[in-house]
Amino acid sequence: MDYQSILAEIEQEVFPLLERGKVANYIPALAEVNPKQFAMTITLFDGTQYSVGQADALFSIQSISKVFTFTLALKFYGTELYKRVGHEPSGNPFNSLVQLEYEKGKPRNPFINAGAINVTDALISHYGSAQVAYKEVLEFIRAISDEKSITSNDVVSASEMEHGFRNLALANLMKSFNNLDNRVADVVGTYFKHCAVEMNTKTLSRAMLYLANDGVDPISGQIYITASQSKRINAVMLTCGHYDASGDFAFNVGLPGKSGVGGGIVAVIPEKMGICVWSPGLNENGNSLVGTKALELFTTKTGLSIF
Ligand code: GLU
Repeated sequence: MDYQSILAEIEQEVFPLLERGKVANYIPALAEVNPKQFAMTITLFDGTQYSVGQADALFSIQSISKVFTFTLALKFYGTELYKRVGHEPSGNPFNSLVQLEYEKGKPRNPFINAGAINVTDALISHYGSAQVAYKEVLEFIRAISDEKSITSNDVVSASEMEHGFRNLALANLMKSFNNLDNRVADVVGTYFKHCAVEMNTKTLSRAMLYLANDGVDPISGQIYITASQSKRINAVMLTCGHYDASGDFAFNVGLPGKSGVGGGIVAVIPEKMGICVWSPGLNENGNSLVGTKALELFTTKTGLSIF
């Protein structure tokens, strides 16, 4: 298949839509990003990459980091993890408090904010401190993307902490239900730091390969998680990866995927490739407007989806 031509067609077709999305403005440091940017990369199992647009431009991975923290927590806790966080779609916005109160402090899944904060707490308990947990999450991201220079943007995480009233509220609510072990400020601070990791579409599509290959990196041969755990992460990406628009994404794109408010979306084509698309303008559900469209075009044009 001529992937490069397909990506070039997609770039042209989404161009008129670049005006439509709105950048996330609830994190002041992200509100300054120019929305009219676009990049897309696919990485095949032999490491071959095809890209269009600004594929070297770094952006804030935000909630895409939840895939990596969920991976590590599942690796260490196994199915015990589901005692503190579920694996059902929420049907609610990513930062909703109502459902969490109703369900006694147990978040629906690891990809809504409450669930991801809870997973970060589990990792802090596992590693013994917030500092070590953050360092190990970063090392894991560097390993799976084969890029040692990846780091987190302190301005973005500090900006989020300063305006993180809702995430702090979610963490406090979980603490009140005894579903958070560590100090709220430490947990939420660590969560913001892994959200503020910066990557580009090349490194992120590379980082998805272990999930396309049953938990094993097809290039290095490194086993990260079991095939069963990889299957579960893909299932949760498919059903919960786009918040309350997860059904739409499964319907229109047909791939396990995870979005972040920085405008990135990662997706997995099992046995074939990792994909990342980036465009900072978001739709009303907080998912990249152009990114979603580009992925829909990709699965339509290539006929590759899980269905
Ligand atoms: N750091 C963001 C928050 O907690 C992540 C949200 C997202 O990327 O969807 O609000």
